[in-house]
Amino acid sequence: MKVHLNQIPPEGIHFEGEDPASILELNGPDVSPITPVRYTLDVGTSGGGVFATGHIAVDLDMACVSCLEHFVFPLEIDDFACQVELTGSEEIDLTDALKEDILLALPPHPRCNWDGRNKCLGVQRPAPAEPDGRESQPDTWGALDKLKIK
Ligand SMILES: [Zn+2]
Repeated sequence: MKVHLNQIPPEGIHFEGEDPASILELNGPDVSPITPVRYTLDVGTSGGGVFATGHIAVDLDMACVSCLEHFVFPLEIDDFACQVELTGSEEIDLTDALKEDILLALPPHPRCNWDGRNKCLGVQRPAPAEPDGRESQPDTWGALDKLKIK
């Protein structure tokens, strides 16, 4: 998200919008964004800098550390705040600040039952390592087997 200095009146300004999810540079198998980064920010100037406070959110596809199932985790940061020093440029780039806060807010051990609505089967299964447990194999392996045959 970029703000031009002359867009910011002395009393500050309210911004709502989206940045493409690509700013997060998250596209691993265990976590990837499925929506743009949404922001609702109050932006103002103070001293030699620009500050922004507000709310940012992005929905993420994550893999559960316990059962490996993928689930949607709606990440929200209600108390986002950043300050960017003026560098002489007319354009203030808040993208890195948005990205950093979202990366810091990622759950380190995501679980599919994070909100209590989903039952995580991985927690209930004491020993998931059955050699002939075909049903517990993720679909990707079946797809890979088919590829090998060709
Ligand atoms: Zn799970």
